[in-house]
Amino acid sequence: MAYTYDDQNIFAKILRGEIPNDTVMETDHTLAFRDIAPQAPEHVLVIPKGAYVSYDHFASEASDAEIADYTRTIGAICKQLGVDLGGDGMGYRLISNAGTAGVQDVPHLHVHILSGRPLGPMLMRA
Ligand code: AMP
Repeated sequence: MAYTYDDQNIFAKILRGEIPNDTVMETDHTLAFRDIAPQAPEHVLVIPKGAYVSYDHFASEASDAEIADYTRTIGAICKQLGVDLGGDGMGYRLISNAGTAGVQDVPHLHVHILSGRPLGPMLMRA
């Protein structure tokens, strides 16, 4: 089955400039901005500019340039936040929710970067 992408999702609107965002970093292929409802002292969302619904969609269909840019931008944001292990930061957690099992609210690929405090267990029990 082919991937379907809803271009009315809120991150698509942010990319089109229809909704404002608190940008942290922008490159040719990637945009990162602060989450509107932060779950930790540092909570940044990183999205590709291309129309990809999930990580697996991105991994299947994005160009090598998009994938390299996305990966390196996530690392660069960790450095900019001062949480990277190379800079002796406190560390962070990356989360990318997809579909029903992942409880994905916005159907445009995003990685959450969370840090600023010890984040506790990885998952809550259902
Ligand atoms: P997910 O459940 O992984 O799809 O997460 C979607 C995230 O997008 C949530 O953490 C929301 O707080 C965040 N979010 C929704 N609308 C906006 C917005 N306009 N600007 C920034 N973050 C948003």
